[in-house]
Amino acid sequence: MSTETHHHGHTHRLDLADSTVREWDATVLAADPEQGIVLDRSAFYPGGGGQPPDEGVLIWGGVRTRIAGTRKGDEFYLVPVEGDPVPPVGTAVRGALDDERRTRLMRTHSGLHVLTGVVFRDFGALVTGGNMEPLTARMDFDLAEVPPDFKDRLAEAVNAEIAADRPIEVKTLPRDEAFAIPDIIRTATNLLPPDIEEVRIVDIVGLDTQADGGTHVASTSMVGRVEVVKMENKGRGFRRLRIRIV
Ligand SMILES: [Zn+2]
Repeated sequence: MSTETHHHGHTHRLDLADSTVREWDATVLAADPEQGIVLDRSAFYPGGGGQPPDEGVLIWGGVRTRIAGTRKGDEFYLVPVEGDPVPPVGTAVRGALDDERRTRLMRTHSGLHVLTGVVFRDFGALVTGGNMEPLTARMDFDLAEVPPDFKDRLAEAVNAEIAADRPIEVKTLPRDEAFAIPDIIRTATNLLPPDIEEVRIVDIVGLDTQADGGTHVASTSMVGRVEVVKMENKGRGFRRLRIRIV
C-alpha cells in the first residue's frame, strides 16, 4: 500500500497516473554511481505494497545504462547495474521498462486484489499481508475456520470474477473522501501517515477497493487464470496462500 502523490522528490512519477507507459523522454537531474540516477520524469515503479521495483534501461547517445532497481529517499534514485556508464547531469535520456516483467507484475498485483476481494466477500477473511514476483505471489489472511473445499471454492470464485471482466479504476481522492469508503478502512493494513492529504485508490468495480500505489491492468480479464497452489497454516487463524498466474 502506498499513498504517494505524483511526485517523489524532484521526479514526476508517470506510473501513478498511467501504468501503460513503457518508454518516455527524461532529463538527468542528479547522477552518482553510488547513490543512483535521478530523472525529472520516470515510469519506474519504486517498489512497495508487495510489488517489487521495475527493471529497465536508460538510452543516451547510443549508450545504454541498465537499471537494476530503485532506492527511495528524499529523491527517487534509479540504481544502475554495477559497471554500466552513468549519464551526466543534464543528459537527455530515453527511459524504457522491462515490459514483460512489468506487465507480469501488473497481472499478478491485480490478481491479488481479486483474491483479497473474494476472501473477504465469500469467507469474511481479512488480508494481513502479501508479496509478489512476476506471476507468483503469496497472500496472508486471517481465518479461524477453513472449510475443507476452501482452495477449490476460492479458485473457482476468483476465476469467475476474472471472467466477469470487471473494470479496474485508479483515482486519487481527498483523504476524508477516501476514508468514507468502508472498504478502505478494512484493507488499510498499514496505517496511513496523518499528513497525507490525498489517497490513491485502486477500485475493482463491484469487488474490491483499496488504497494502493501499485500498477494494475485495466480490467480483471487481463490478469489471466489464477491457480491456488497451496495453503499453509501458520497458526491461530494465520493462513498463507500461494498462487500462480497462468
Ligand atoms: Zn495492492
